[in-house]
Amino acid sequence: MSADWQQVRDKLRAEFGAAAFKSWLAPIELDSFADARAVISVPTRFMRDWVARHYLGRITQLLRDGTGDSGPRTVEIIVRGGVASGPVSAQEGFAAASAPAPTRNAPRGNPRRSHEDVSAPLDPRFTFDNFIVGKSNEFAYAAARRVAEAQTAPFNPLFLYGGVGLGKTHLMHAIAWHIHKADPNRRVISLSAEKFMYQFIRALRFQDTMAFKEQFRSVDVLMIDDVQFISGRETTQEEFFHTFNALVDQNRQVVISADKSPSDLEGMEERLRSRLGWGLVADIHQTDYELRLSILQSKAEKLGSQIPPKVLEFLAHKITSNVRELEGALNRVVAHSTLVGRDISLEVTQEVLHDLLRANDRRVTIEEIQKRVAEHFNVRIADMHSARRARAVARPRQVAMYLAKQLTSRSLPEIGRKFGGRDHTTVMHAVRKVEELRSADSSFSEDVELLRRMLET
Ligand code: ADP
Ligand code: MG
Repeated sequence: MSADWQQVRDKLRAEFGAAAFKSWLAPIELDSFADARAVISVPTRFMRDWVARHYLGRITQLLRDGTGDSGPRTVEIIVRGGVASGPVSAQEGFAAASAPAPTRNAPRGNPRRSHEDVSAPLDPRFTFDNFIVGKSNEFAYAAARRVAEAQTAPFNPLFLYGGVGLGKTHLMHAIAWHIHKADPNRRVISLSAEKFMYQFIRALRFQDTMAFKEQFRSVDVLMIDDVQFISGRETTQEEFFHTFNALVDQNRQVVISADKSPSDLEGMEERLRSRLGWGLVADIHQTDYELRLSILQSKAEKLGSQIPPKVLEFLAHKITSNVRELEGALNRVVAHSTLVGRDISLEVTQEVLHDLLRANDRRVTIEEIQKRVAEHFNVRIADMHSARRARAVARPRQVAMYLAKQLTSRSLPEIGRKFGGRDHTTVMHAVRKVEELRSADSSFSEDVELLRRMLET
């Protein structure tokens, strides 16, 4: 049976995705299975109700499918360590997934929580002062500052979006800090969409949605982080939509962040998506080299650590994924050198960050380089591998080899192989040739630089 259970788990992960699996499904254990009755358990009552409501039907079905005739007729879900409040079960022909969570054991008069409880604690480092502005984030930064400094909402909502680790949460906390400092009486709630959902479900469960509505609708500024989290959660979206409208109608400021633009948010109700785009939409782009370097310089200064400029430049060059990784890389290097009592050098950095550097390298592949370079010089991709030696194709090929050497961690023989099985000396020759040309011909050099930048971001 344990093998079957593992299969059920694998299927659940595939069907519901890694995030839902981690939060709700991974903690489920199969306790017993006998006499056509399976018992599964979870750590808390809240989880029991949630799982019963959303997943038990599917779990039951998968357990049955996997075990054929000998499968369970009923699946019961209990709380481990047993708070005796009765199991919830899915019986044959009964869809527990649509049954409401039981509330009969819920305590009445659930205490109201103040907005300080609801709001996530603010990170003291996430202030405007600590935010380094560059081309990729200047618009989002300016918009956030406007909102923080204004007494009435200059645009509603402010919708910030961008990839992970690019500073969305930082900017939201910075707004909250700024307002808090300027006027401690203004009420700001800042929380993740995930937490908003928890609160809402909790309120439903305790039949206390009035207090829930009140606490959100009486704030001056509401900030919801990572709103993509409520994609596909219809009831939560509905509630969020009403809260949102109530606040905007009263001219209270709403700030939203997400990993995509409003129109690209899948699994969001159309009217909510369009409503989210009514205010100001500001995106944060991938960082460029200059911004990464400024961020590193500022962090290094704060760490009070002697880091050679060469190392900072190296990191800014190599860790291109996002600011969170960049910071993490710097911290690791500093921690390592403090621990082993060695000065920070380029070698130490490369050693310590070996895995991270590889992961960032993998972002540009030789195939991508060949494709971009071929496009740029208007030759066929096949010419990257061909034996043709005409200058018109040989030069682009050399540029591609040069960029492969610069932008990936592949060795010369590896690069040679990718270019139609050429010898490593050919690659070496190409690299030298391009370097030579770059110093002799500035427009050629700019061309190559442009390609490099395009490939890097
Ligand atoms: P997101 O919410 O977009 O995933 P965060 O706001 O959590 O990203 O930022 C990740 C980390 O990078 C945080 O430690 C944050 O302080 C830092 N960071 C991001 N952008 C900047 C910036 N422009 N200047 C300084 N630090 C930044
Ligand atoms: Mg964030």
